[in-house]
Amino acid sequence: MNAPKGTHESTTCPGCGAVLPGSPWPGTTKYNASAECAEAAGELLGFEVQHAARLGYLHQLRIDAYGAQHVDPAAPRIGPVFALNGLYMFLERGSGNLDVRTAHGIMANSYDDWPRLVPPARVGELTAYDVLTAGGVDEVESALLEWAREVWGSWPDADRDTIRELTVRLVPERWFKR
Ligand SMILES: [Zn+2]
Repeated sequence: MNAPKGTHESTTCPGCGAVLPGSPWPGTTKYNASAECAEAAGELLGFEVQHAARLGYLHQLRIDAYGAQHVDPAAPRIGPVFALNGLYMFLERGSGNLDVRTAHGIMANSYDDWPRLVPPARVGELTAYDVLTAGGVDEVESALLEWAREVWGSWPDADRDTIRELTVRLVPERWFKR
């Protein structure tokens, strides 16, 4: 069936698979994402800023969940390494925004032979758009956590082990909370 003339056809995000109505949003992104998905991610950032007291602690996790779900194969190898490192540190080691940002700085300065990490065909079921449209602040908070867990859990065990080993080798223990 043809779309009616004069409407924007929907797009499918190559990273997360979100099917969203076409948007005239002209944004570009460093991620493997449709413009519509990148726009939703930007709106999710806006929602987080509006509810910073509640959602601020998820700032880095949101960035890393999106990054690990939208890996551009042409981008530097360090991109998915950092994204998965952030997911690992938050989800398995209880680390917060500052811990993860500090770890990224330490890693960038102490190593450069990063593995090439290729995402699985489907990186979680939830999308940034699902999180954005989950409801009020409580629903968005729990959807964001679930989204991050799904993205982390969808990566192959071998890649997650690589990230765990690299992180523990390079990042001092004080940046882990457990
Ligand atoms: Zn997407």
